[in-house]
Amino acid sequence: MNGCPIAIGRTAPETAFWLETLDGVLLLAVMDPTGRLIFANQGFRDMSGLVASSLGTIDHRYLRARLRNRKILRHLYRTLNAGRIWRGEIRYRTALGDRWLDAAIIPVRDESGGIANIAGCAFEVTERRKVQRDLLKSATIDPLTGLLTRQAFHAELADLLETAAATDSHAAVIVLDVDHFKNINDSYGHDAGDELLRVVAQRVRQTVRATDIVGRLGGDELAIAFSPIPSEARLHAVLNNLKVAIRQPLEMKIGRNIVTASIGAACFPRDGQGPDELLTQADLALYAAKRAGRDRSEVFAPHLLEATRRRSQLQHEARSSLALGEFYFDFQPIVGLRSRQVEGVEALLRWRHPHHGILSPGEFSDVFQDYRISASIRELVFEAIADQAARWKAEDVPFGRIAINTSGADFAAPGFTQRLVAILDSRGIGPDSVAIEVTEAMFLGAHADVVRQEVDLLSLGGFQVAYDDFGRGFASINHLKALRIHQVKIDQSLIWQVAGDEAARTTVNTLIHLAHSLGLIVTAEGVETRDQRELLDLMGCDQIQGYLVAHPLPADKVPELCFSMATAAKSLSESRPTRSGFAARQRRGGPAA
Ligand code: C2E
Ligand code: MG
Ligand code: MG
Repeated sequence: MNGCPIAIGRTAPETAFWLETLDGVLLLAVMDPTGRLIFANQGFRDMSGLVASSLGTIDHRYLRARLRNRKILRHLYRTLNAGRIWRGEIRYRTALGDRWLDAAIIPVRDESGGIANIAGCAFEVTERRKVQRDLLKSATIDPLTGLLTRQAFHAELADLLETAAATDSHAAVIVLDVDHFKNINDSYGHDAGDELLRVVAQRVRQTVRATDIVGRLGGDELAIAFSPIPSEARLHAVLNNLKVAIRQPLEMKIGRNIVTASIGAACFPRDGQGPDELLTQADLALYAAKRAGRDRSEVFAPHLLEATRRRSQLQHEARSSLALGEFYFDFQPIVGLRSRQVEGVEALLRWRHPHHGILSPGEFSDVFQDYRISASIRELVFEAIADQAARWKAEDVPFGRIAINTSGADFAAPGFTQRLVAILDSRGIGPDSVAIEVTEAMFLGAHADVVRQEVDLLSLGGFQVAYDDFGRGFASINHLKALRIHQVKIDQSLIWQVAGDEAARTTVNTLIHLAHSLGLIVTAEGVETRDQRELLDLMGCDQIQGYLVAHPLPADKVPELCFSMATAAKSLSESRPTRSGFAARQRRGGPAA
């Protein structure tokens, strides 16, 4: 302790005592005005790998070489030269790795006011720094993908836009969403979903430049921002590269998979000024890309705002129309090719719109995106259909079964099946008078599991389940085999081709035979011509539905048609054997005459 130049106690032994006490708590080092290290307590010596005898022989350069954050030096020198105490954090290299010191460096003055020594005292704060760094990292880096978190992306985007504004450059903000991501999560579990996101994030990162900002906004939504963009063509090239990169087959634990993404982009300064505005516009563009069929990109354009405005206007109108009873049903007969009678009537939703006239579901699909409106319509569907069926039953109308269209969202609504059964039951309508129409998309969509379970329950409960629009998507016969269904409705797009296209004819014929081999009733949708009906009859199709028989009818026109067909069929069967009967016997391998 000899030669310690700073006075803590009044006498040298007192000082030595204090310094020894502080060892292990406080790190102390003192330099003379020339920069020679003349004192270091045990703690500082241990940390720096110094022995006591080296004091006086090494100088500030030894210490400076161990400094990691050299940026502080300028400020440090300036403060000390001004005779003030410098405070700050020092990152100090040691044999055991870097240490962080919370330090005060003090210019100690002599009696004449000149600088006698430079004393440094510090606490080690390495652990605290580590915790802080981890916290900061977890707040800025998404642990799953290694991309920036939403907040960090937002902050970096704000910086990027500031620079772009200052340099008069253009910038682009891109948001990207993995198509049908939820299906992967639901079908294969969250581990597969996580694996997929990691790979997609990696591909995005590799597709853009290292200086571009890439973040995960949440769920499966990623975002990219960059500047400058020399031209719109460059932006389109980036969008295309992203699509191509994501579409490459993935080797995942669950097997080989191909995913696509929908992408939206907005440009600074054209489409917005701040990060929030640009992200909103890019999101609108993304939404447009999804609506246009996914696996595509859209750049924001003002008409997209118009589409959003129209959508909310339509939803607003739907709410008041619901209150005013302007939603109702038309009914389209489904006729047996052999019985020549109405075997079912399909309820088709209509909206008597105050300004646009009568609308079909395809024209107001946007209103279903509001789940409250969807729920109200669902309730209306049940009640109206049950009431209608009850009225026809009371009048002995031979309508067969009443067919109800459903959606994935219907089944996902809590208590859907129970409510349906309860309402029908309250009107005395048994399951044998009802068919439930489901579509392929419902078994692949977000609520696939619950749809399958509930469809099983309905089927076991005696309801006829019809697989609607078969052949429109990619549904396979295997799908039909795996589901508890009774009826398959061949989509009109296939039916319209049977008369003119040999391949379509073969497809429909094969489909009918396969469906029959699975014990299913086959209905052809959208039959418009006699030729189509003749061919379908020869192929052994069981039922037809379409404009040839009848357009969707107002409820009060249905009884007349049902009664007249029943009467005609009766008199026909009394007069001669039908062509259909001939075809049916042929199909079943029975005698031709
Ligand atoms: P879908 O269940 O396949 O109904 C058949 C559609 O084809 C109906 O269209 C019908 O009007 C039309 N159509 C019938 N025969 C012919 C024909 O010969 N030629 C042509 N060109 N078209 C024909 P619509 O009424 O516009 O309904 C469209 C879709 O909306 C329905 O397709 C169904 O998926 C859905 N939908 C209708 N009502 C409801 C409902 O109450 N709930 C739900 N979730 N969906 C419904
Ligand atoms: Mg249908
Ligand atoms: Mg259909």
